[in-house]
Amino acid sequence: MKFSDLDLDPKVLQAIEEAGYETPTPIQQKAIPEALKGRDVLGIAQTGTGKTAAFTLPMISILAQGRARARMPRSLVLCPTRELAAQVAENFEIYGKYHKLSMALLIGGVSFKDQDRLIDRGVDVLIATPGRLLDHFERGKLMLTGVQIMVVDEADRMLDMGFIPDIERIFSLTPFTRQTLFFSATMPPEITRLTEQFLHAPVRVEV
Ligand code: AMP
Repeated sequence: MKFSDLDLDPKVLQAIEEAGYETPTPIQQKAIPEALKGRDVLGIAQTGTGKTAAFTLPMISILAQGRARARMPRSLVLCPTRELAAQVAENFEIYGKYHKLSMALLIGGVSFKDQDRLIDRGVDVLIATPGRLLDHFERGKLMLTGVQIMVVDEADRMLDMGFIPDIERIFSLTPFTRQTLFFSATMPPEITRLTEQFLHAPVRVEV
């Protein structure tokens, strides 16, 4: 299988080619077509399998249509740590280099003021750690009712870090009609319960 078989946006295909990728990894081959169809995806995959591109590539293709409004992000990627959030942002920059998607990274240790300014401008892709995201929400700076696609990355690490109540709260602040792409390396019972509660007939992709 080639990337060009996957129905991705042509500008995304060009960015991938320039990144030097030749063939999609197994998780990408299975998850990307489902995500592009609008299905919820439950991806069970470790780091190193290409899982980040498995959600960023279809997201860029889907978000290429449409425009963000102030303080209403169109998509949300939740990551357990600042480092992982920064890596996901780098991926969006590489694969989205030919798109004019606006992006904001909401992580701790950075001033709220700079992050507020980004949110005010309208955000296509919001990448955040759960605590910082909820801080912005509590300050009344942000609404999640415009979120069309939500990603939870490394859910089992979120569990280890005690973030499950935050994730549940964030899910409940987004529209019921959102598309969810959910990734975890393992499936402990708490994570299974979370997916049963918030994913709609997900396609399970295991690598
Ligand atoms: P991840 O599992 O998302 O952390 O990705 C692991 C590494 O694989 C990253 O450095 C990516 O840049 C790289 N990568 C992802 N997809 C592909 C691909 N289809 N071909 C070659 N490298 C890839």
